[in-house]
Parts: sequence; structure tokens; C-alpha cells
Amino acid sequence: MCQAGRATMVKAVLNAVPMYQMSTYKIPKTLINKTYYSKFFKLECQSSPNSFETEVVEKISRMHINISEEDIVRWKPTRDGNFTVKSAYNKLVETRFQQQEVSMTVPKEVRKELWKMKVPHRVKLFIWKCLQDIVQTKVKIIRYNNSSDPICKICNQQNESLFHLLWVCTYARVVWRYLNVNVDRVADSCNNIKDWVMSWFSNQQGFGIVEYNTWKITLMVGCWIIWKERCETVFQNKSLNPISTVSRIQFYLHNFLHAARDVSPELPQSLPVSLLSVDIPTIYVDASYDHLTNNSGTEMVIFSCAGTCVGVKGSYADGVIDAEAAECMAIREVLSWMEA
Ligand SMILES: [Zn+2]
Repeated sequence: MCQAGRATMVKAVLNAVPMYQMSTYKIPKTLINKTYYSKFFKLECQSSPNSFETEVVEKISRMHINISEEDIVRWKPTRDGNFTVKSAYNKLVETRFQQQEVSMTVPKEVRKELWKMKVPHRVKLFIWKCLQDIVQTKVKIIRYNNSSDPICKICNQQNESLFHLLWVCTYARVVWRYLNVNVDRVADSCNNIKDWVMSWFSNQQGFGIVEYNTWKITLMVGCWIIWKERCETVFQNKSLNPISTVSRIQFYLHNFLHAARDVSPELPQSLPVSLLSVDIPTIYVDASYDHLTNNSGTEMVIFSCAGTCVGVKGSYADGVIDAEAAECMAIREVLSWMEA
């Protein structure tokens, strides 16, 4: 007889013995549950130790069997043993989550740190999509639509993958160089967008906490704006200019760092020098022209990279040949004003 068979038979016989005992003598209930059976099985097991393995003997010794109760089927996921749809659903979901956890290749620390960052949710969400590689670039779209063109519209040289768009593309490289991010160093160590984004979350640059935070936010905002500019180029035929992209990034950076500073005293009171080194102002200039009197008026407004108005000026001229000349004069005037 196999071990399980022997165990079942021994159990049946041992159950029968106390039933006979109890039908003859009245034994207190607590004694039956707590002491009698435990000792009874123990004695039986000890008397024939070779019949069972030690582990089995120990388990039998610890067993308490209430013979007055009928056997019932119990549902393990609930405490009272009764089946509920809720507990079955929770059990299924829990299993699925465990499977997802295994397949999820983004380390938990990176995920936690990303969602803790003090930048707007839309920026974090974009970076999260980069980590999951679910941003709809042309390389992605061509999988579903063979007739679409996978070539990057900005450089017209390579396929538009996310890594190309945010890192390899000539336009992106110019933007990163302006932002003082070492392009070549990253290109050596990372081959895809996910590795690159994950590398942000380990302080390899040896920064202090404040600089490290600023550096991470710069990269996050940089990627987000490059993607936004790309979308505007593709869908609205907007022409791209790396300089205006950089000032747009710096504008957002200034706002986000400012907002983060209000809630976190750790962040610096001013941007690090590396970010201020490209303080590119935005100039609005326009000229009006009256073709009857040949008079022209010029207006100019200068904004700093942070979006603060730093100067306003207007001027008047007569004897202007045409509207084009008036516009040229206005631009010339604003440039000489800036120089001064
Ligand atoms: Zn490109």
C-alpha cells in the first residue's frame, strides 16, 4: 500500500477507536478537541514511527479533528469558507497582476520615482509612454498601415522611431546641445529610448540632489517639447527651429521649477548656470505703413526666456517707400536696440 493509502487507512481506524470510546464513556468536549486527540495520534505515531516520515508524524500530532461535525467543502479565498463572486474576481485579478508584475520590465524604483517627480502629470505621462514604448511614431503606425511613410519628416533621413525622434535626429541633437546635455555620452551607453529614460533615474552624473532633480526635469521637459513640436510639424505643417524649441523648453522649465520650488524647499532659487547659458529672448516686432502718406510706425516687445516682458519700444518714421521696407526697418531697429 502506498503512503497516502496507509495514511487514509490509519486515519479511518484511529477515528473509529475514539468513537467507540466515547459511545461508552462521556468525555468533556474541550478535552476531546485539545488534548485527547493530539496525544492519541502522537502515541500512535510514536508507537510505529517507521510507517510515516517525521514531517507527516509532526503534522498528525498537531491535528485536531472535531468528529461531531460533518465534512464540508470550504472556499479558501474567503475567511468563512463560503464562496462569493467578489472573492473569485479578486483572486483572478490578483493572479493577473502577479503575471503583469513579472512581465513589467520597468523597475519599481524607476516607476515610483517618475510618478513622484514635481512636474505636471502630462509630462510624466509622456515619459511613462516612452518607457512603455507606446508613443505613436511613424515606425509604430506602419505596423498597422503599410501605405504610410516611416521616414522622419524633420530630417528626411531615417525612420521615425521614438529614439530617433528624441535623440538621434539632427534637430533633437541640436536642441540637446543647446541645453548642455552630452549627446555623445548617452549615445554610447544606450541603444533605445527605454534604456535612456531609465538611466535618468540613477544619478550617474554625480550631481547633488538639487542639480540632479533639475537635470531630470530638463530631460523630461525636453523630450516632451520635442514631441510636441514634432506633432505640430506633422499635423500643422509648422516649420521647426531648434532655437525656438530651446526657448520653449526653458520657458516651461522655468515655470515647472518655480512651481516645484513653492512646494519643495530643496529646489534652487534660480536656474543653474548651465540652463541660463542659453538665455534666448523672444522678440515681437511689427510695423504699420500708410501708403498715402508714406509714414510708418514700429512696435517692439522683448520677452526673456522665462516669458517676462523686459522691454517695450515704439517709433515713427516718414518717407518710407513701401510696407516691406517698413518691416525691414522695424527689424533693424529692434536688433540695434537689443545690441545697445
Ligand atoms: Zn529625423
